[in-house]
Amino acid sequence: FVPIALRNFVSGGGGGSSSISGGEVGKGTEDIKNGIEGCIGNTPLVRIRSLSEYLGCEVLAKAEFLNPGGSPKDRVALSIILKAEQDGKLRPFSGDKVFEGTVGSTGVSLAHICRARGYLAHICMPSDQSAEKSSLLLKLGAEVERVSPASIVDPRQFVNLAKSRARTLTLSSSLSRGFFADQFENEANWRAHFESTGPEIYRQCGGRLDAFVAGAGTGGTISGVVKYLKPRIPNLTAVLADPQGSGLLNKVKYGVMFNELTEREGTRRRAQVDTIVEGIGINRVTANFEAGRTLLDDAIRVTDEEACLMARYLVEQDGLFVGSSSAVNCVAAVKLVKERGWENSGKRIVTILCDSGSRHLSKFWAQVGDIGGNWDTTIEQILQAGAK
Ligand code: PMP
Repeated sequence: FVPIALRNFVSGGGGGSSSISGGEVGKGTEDIKNGIEGCIGNTPLVRIRSLSEYLGCEVLAKAEFLNPGGSPKDRVALSIILKAEQDGKLRPFSGDKVFEGTVGSTGVSLAHICRARGYLAHICMPSDQSAEKSSLLLKLGAEVERVSPASIVDPRQFVNLAKSRARTLTLSSSLSRGFFADQFENEANWRAHFESTGPEIYRQCGGRLDAFVAGAGTGGTISGVVKYLKPRIPNLTAVLADPQGSGLLNKVKYGVMFNELTEREGTRRRAQVDTIVEGIGINRVTANFEAGRTLLDDAIRVTDEEACLMARYLVEQDGLFVGSSSAVNCVAAVKLVKERGWENSGKRIVTILCDSGSRHLSKFWAQVGDIGGNWDTTIEQILQAGAK
C-alpha cells in the first residue's frame, strides 16, 4: 500500500531548505525537510579539538555519520537512483527493483531510499559476513541474498550476481525493471560528492582550506570532493588515506597498482585487502577513483594498530565514537601535518568522519577494546605504532 498523497512528493530529490536553527523566528519562513531524502547532506563540519590543539593546525571533519542512513552513502544512493529515474531506468512505485552487491553502508542507504521512493532493494552479500549486517537490511525492508564467497571472476560472486539478477528481471518481466546500482563504476557516485559534499565543505570553510584527506572504497568521495575543490583552491593538497594492504597508495605515488603484502608473499594480486578497516582500501582502480586520481598529490599509509589507537584517542579526548575508516582518515591527517612540518602553522585540514563506531562493534571496536575511565592514549603512541 502506497498512500497516493505520498506519490506526489517523490518526484523531487532533496527538498527542504537548510538553515541554522536558533535564529529569529520569522512568520512565513518554513524549514521543512521533504522525507528522508531531504535530510541527506548538509552535515556539520566539526573542529576536532584535541587534534587541532596538539598540532597547532585546524583539523576539521565532515560529520557524515549524521546522514539519516548513517554515512555519506546516502548521498550516493540518492544520486544513483535519481539519475536512473531521469534516464528512464527506474519508475517510482512501479514494482521496479534496485540490485547491488555490497557488504557495507551502500546497502543500508539504498534500503532507506528505495523504500522512500517506492522500490524494492535487493542486496547480494557474501555469506561469511556477520548476521548483524543482513538483519539490519531485512529490517529496512530490503531483500537479502547471501551467497558463498567466490572470486571476482565467478558469476556467482555477490556483485556479479546482483548485476545478472537485475538483467534477468528486466528481461523476464513485462511490468518490473531491474536496475544494477553499481556503486564502483557508476559515475553518479562521484558526481554526488562533486555536487554536494565538495560545495558544502567549500562553503563551510569560507573557501579557506589547505588540505583534504580521505580514504577510498569506491573512490567516489575523494574524487568528487577534490574535483570540486581543486579548481577553486589551486594550492590545496589532496591526500589519499590508505589502510594497510591496499594497493591504491602505490597507484597514487608511483602510478602502479601493487601492495606490500602481495610483493612480500610473492603471490598474485589479491582481491581482498588485508586489514580490519572496513569500507576503504582496494586493490583495483575503479571508475570512481580514476575520475579524480590524477588530482591527488600524495597518499599516506595507515596501519590497523594506528587506526585502533586513534579511535580510542577520539573517544577519550573528544567523545567522538567513530568507525574504522574515520580513524584512518584522522591518522592520515596527523601524519600529513607531521610529514610536511606544518605544526603550529594554523593550516586547515579537512577530513571525513564516515560512520559511527556503532556499525563496527563486533569487528573493529572489538579490537579497540573498552575505554573504561581511561585518558591514556597519546598521539606519540599512535605515531610510534606506525613506526614499528
Ligand atoms: N568509509 C566507510 C565506512 C565506507 O563504507 C566507505 C564506502 N565504501 C568509505 C569510507 C569510502 O567512501 P568511497 O566509497 O566514496 O570511497
